[in-house]
Amino acid sequence: MRIATFTSEGHRKVGLVSADGKTVTPLELTQGQADSGVLTLIESLAEGGSLPEAAGPPVNLIDVVLDAPLPKPRRNLWCVGRNYHAHAKELAASVFKDNAAKTDDWPIVFTKVPECVVGPHDDVLVPSEVSTQIDYEAELAVVIGKGGKNITRAAAMSHVFGYTVVNDVTARDVQMRHGQWDLGKSFDTFCPMGPWIVTADEFDGTKTRVRCWVNGELRQDGPTENMIFDIPTLIETISRGITLYPGDVIATGTPAGVGMGMSPPRYLCAGDVVRVEIDRLGAIENKFV
Ligand code: MG
Repeated sequence: MRIATFTSEGHRKVGLVSADGKTVTPLELTQGQADSGVLTLIESLAEGGSLPEAAGPPVNLIDVVLDAPLPKPRRNLWCVGRNYHAHAKELAASVFKDNAAKTDDWPIVFTKVPECVVGPHDDVLVPSEVSTQIDYEAELAVVIGKGGKNITRAAAMSHVFGYTVVNDVTARDVQMRHGQWDLGKSFDTFCPMGPWIVTADEFDGTKTRVRCWVNGELRQDGPTENMIFDIPTLIETISRGITLYPGDVIATGTPAGVGMGMSPPRYLCAGDVVRVEIDRLGAIENKFV
């Protein structure tokens, strides 16, 4: 299933996207439930509930506004730094080389605040008064279904509800200045997400590729097989002593090709359009303003 959160006739709704990607069928949820996007559905399905009935006929996707599938995740998004071999290599040769972790035994994990999530076609606000080094990071994001703590690698995939696309937008100067990365990653609108969640029965995050274009120029094109720490390892690591909940998001890191990794670095400016696409999952495209 592809489950989308969208706004139609002034109301937020949650629905199933058709196989041809042309229509979405709204599901029977209260307005309060729909306002939290797919979260209510994830929580109820994780507890063995069933899919709600259709709330009406399919509507054309071009007639609705797609929102982020989780417009405001229940808490900070978990994010993984330096998780593709080729990206680790480009960082080692960049201005960032002294800021990366000193060990390859454990993944770098940081968070972004939930309020920075915006929809798949929303504008990203460039905080020009704070940063002159805005960068893109195309990423595959895992959405947790059944929660748990101390989840083993072997059990990890049974805790995945589905997958979505995010752009882990980053202010590099702020990221490097503060030691911790959260400030440089959490500016308002710095996490475009969408266009929907593809459920884990149809897609498992392997054998796909993550691509990113800036103003139509291909900048990133990385196979997810190039990840240093795979999805089961990330779930096992993050859930060590920490309970994961239904609807938690784990952004799995970005492939090579970020603006900071270029020589000289190429950062984003107002007017730029960034498209992130993951094969068999979907695409998001956002203008920076
Ligand atoms: Mg990232």
